[in-house]
Amino acid sequence: MERSDDRLKVAVNIRPLIASELLNGCTDCVTLTPGKPQVQIGSHVFTYDHVYGPSGSQSSQLFEECVMPLVDALFSGYNATVLAYGQTGSGKSYTMGTNYHGEASDGAITHRVMEKIFEKVNKLTDDREFIIRVSFVEIFKEKVFDLLDQHNNGRVMRTGDGFQRVPIQIGEKSRGDITLAGVNEPAVKSKEEMALFLALGSLNRATASTHMNSHSSRSHAIFTICIEQKRTTSSSHSNSGDLFLVSKLRLVDLAGSERAKSAGPDGLRFKEGIHINKGLLALGNVISLLGDEKKRKVGTFVPYRVSKLTRLLQDSLGGNSKTIMIACISPADSNAKETINTLKYANRAR
Ligand code: ADP
Repeated sequence: MERSDDRLKVAVNIRPLIASELLNGCTDCVTLTPGKPQVQIGSHVFTYDHVYGPSGSQSSQLFEECVMPLVDALFSGYNATVLAYGQTGSGKSYTMGTNYHGEASDGAITHRVMEKIFEKVNKLTDDREFIIRVSFVEIFKEKVFDLLDQHNNGRVMRTGDGFQRVPIQIGEKSRGDITLAGVNEPAVKSKEEMALFLALGSLNRATASTHMNSHSSRSHAIFTICIEQKRTTSSSHSNSGDLFLVSKLRLVDLAGSERAKSAGPDGLRFKEGIHINKGLLALGNVISLLGDEKKRKVGTFVPYRVSKLTRLLQDSLGGNSKTIMIACISPADSNAKETINTLKYANRAR
């Protein structure tokens, strides 16, 4: 059953078995309950706002039911967040399209969002002026890096030790808006221009990943679309009044949720694992509070400042914002343990 409160919704997206899983003889261990947004794995049964199986039309349905309402809300001045959660390999980047290198990826959320935003803008330009900006950052080891820093792949400093980047600081404006000091926020006039910045950021992220032991599965990627709209004087509606709205949509491809593997000889991997889990743990705590109407009503303190991820998302989670969490899972029996962890995490948000 859908909740009437549309501030936070949780969907589960099940990808098909992929070639490597089929080659390894994996079988499908996740069952959908017909007619209900429910999944079953072993003896566990979980219910969400929406569940999407691996068949063809499901990605359009996911977009229409989960993301399109957020795009609409954006034009009414709401901030919104789409979160993709799940273990590495569960389909987060595929679903979000935040790992985009220029090839067509029509079904991905980011692409449909870009298309819909410009469709709406083109319909509304008779009486409104729009300024649309994008930014693209990643959070790695509790530091925020600008993926649109043309200059040097996120302000790379080459040192004797190799690859180092200069992080950017998170700040807050008086209205509670979160700011990123010095982040590149180019204005864009078309979906093609927007896609170019998405591709540039993805490339910079991949470059950093090559230098730093494939860190992309261990970092959170956040693509933000900020829309400023102002009613123009040419408006034919004399009683339409002033309008000035600024809203942002954050599209977040979270780090892999799998438990940190045991430490390497230098303990490095383990430390990164702790940082990642700090973000995901803090996010889990924040959204489970936001999903709890009773606690929200009594004004329970929401611990946004515990991690960089929740701090950065503070102005677009909770309050007057709308959020959809998409828990991505693999149906393979070999992933059952992590799949159950993902389903439990997503269940906390309800
Ligand atoms: P993650 O970002 O969670 O690490 P990916 O998005 O990279 O996972 O997906 C892992 C693999 O599964 C990729 O090879 C991707 O092409 C494939 N995949 C993910 N979702 C789907 C889907 N809905 N249909 C077909 N293949 C998919």
